Amino acid sequence: MLPQEIIRKKRDGVTLTAEEIRFFVRGITDGGVSEGQVASFAMAVFFNDMSTDERVAFTLAMRDSGQVLEWRSLDLPGPVVDKHSTGGVGDVVSLLLGPMIAACGGFVPMISGRGLGHTGGTLDKLESIAGYRAMPEIGKFREVVRDVGVAIIGQTADLAPADKRVYSIRDVTATVESVAMITSSILSKKLSAGLDALVMDVKVGSGAFMPTPEKSLELAQAIVHVGNGAGTRTTALLTDMNESLSPCAGNALEVRLALDYLSGRSRPARLHAVTLALCAEMLVVSGISASDEAARVRLQAVLDSGEAVERFARMVSALGGPADLFEQPGKYLDKTSLTVPAPAQRGGFVSRSNCRALGLAVVGLGGGRTRPTDNIDFAVGLSALVRIGERIEAGQPLALVHARNDGAAQRAVQEVQAAYEISDLAPPDNPLIYQRIAA
Ligand code: URA
Repeated sequence: MLPQEIIRKKRDGVTLTAEEIRFFVRGITDGGVSEGQVASFAMAVFFNDMSTDERVAFTLAMRDSGQVLEWRSLDLPGPVVDKHSTGGVGDVVSLLLGPMIAACGGFVPMISGRGLGHTGGTLDKLESIAGYRAMPEIGKFREVVRDVGVAIIGQTADLAPADKRVYSIRDVTATVESVAMITSSILSKKLSAGLDALVMDVKVGSGAFMPTPEKSLELAQAIVHVGNGAGTRTTALLTDMNESLSPCAGNALEVRLALDYLSGRSRPARLHAVTLALCAEMLVVSGISASDEAARVRLQAVLDSGEAVERFARMVSALGGPADLFEQPGKYLDKTSLTVPAPAQRGGFVSRSNCRALGLAVVGLGGGRTRPTDNIDFAVGLSALVRIGERIEAGQPLALVHARNDGAAQRAVQEVQAAYEISDLAPPDNPLIYQRIAA
């Protein structure tokens, strides 16, 4: 077999066999396939797409290009289950959902990413906790999953290395936007965690990764078909990202919110609704709960009893973080000394937010990266963000800007003001959960 013959077939719209795909991915991993060949292959897939069978074969070959975790030998007394989101702003769900599922009897080996573009990353949020080790040895990761039920860590170099190479080439050859390749890229990494079940949260709206609701739906359907085709029970929810999911966006600010949520001090409505919907879906798809209703009762019980808080606290201390994070958050989470309101320039109803612009305002403050090697400032961000549909007076804050200096604060104030539309009429309700996709 020759790589160029496989590229030629895909270029001409011919369906590839699983064997051809495995051969090509082996070459991606061991260097037998050149960068130019990976780029040409990606462009051929971009134009000619892949069938579901090809996508499954591509996903499994990329998953198997590195280490695939197995849990059977640990004889865990519950299913191994995870959630993945296409990313958003103020989306702190993973920090809540992992401990909640663990408290309900699931095991959550969550391998999460850093912020990408305007979206925040779970890994960056956790690293804002002084001492938290986000890149432990795999042995330690397995131990924490076994003992606590949840561990959230970063992607190691051993997991799906073929995807790492393909993604870096797609990124510079205008071939990221292929549903076939996005699906295989996401699933190859997620499935390398050895999951029994996966729930996908595909965002829709102005802060979503996919550019239109139709494309979000197409991706959700593709992930559900390919995930199930690859042997992992997979469902998806399409959820709203036309506004920040929580009232704050920024790493340490979101961790503070997670602590408040788990301990019951504050549960912002939209965040709570999406968290419960995704958790309930995980409990049902993994077989822990018989119905959505039963799952919600169980989830409320572990929130009320403090079992979910306890799982989070145990995970943090097992991974090197402080044992008294809930008691003394200020000791471990950085804060800016400057907090500046972003006043509304007119009164009326908040009718629209450019959620992507809000995420980029956080990046501009230093809370995200413009280059992969950038250090980020965990303390900066936005809080008290107004919600779509709220009625506000001129001069009332649209958000509070947490910045390191006046110049950065003023830039962010202008960006926040530009990101919101205020009108005289109340907008229609901004939906939260659009659709559930199952196989
Ligand atoms: N996220 C991924 O992991 N892969 C893609 O291709 C796009 C988003």
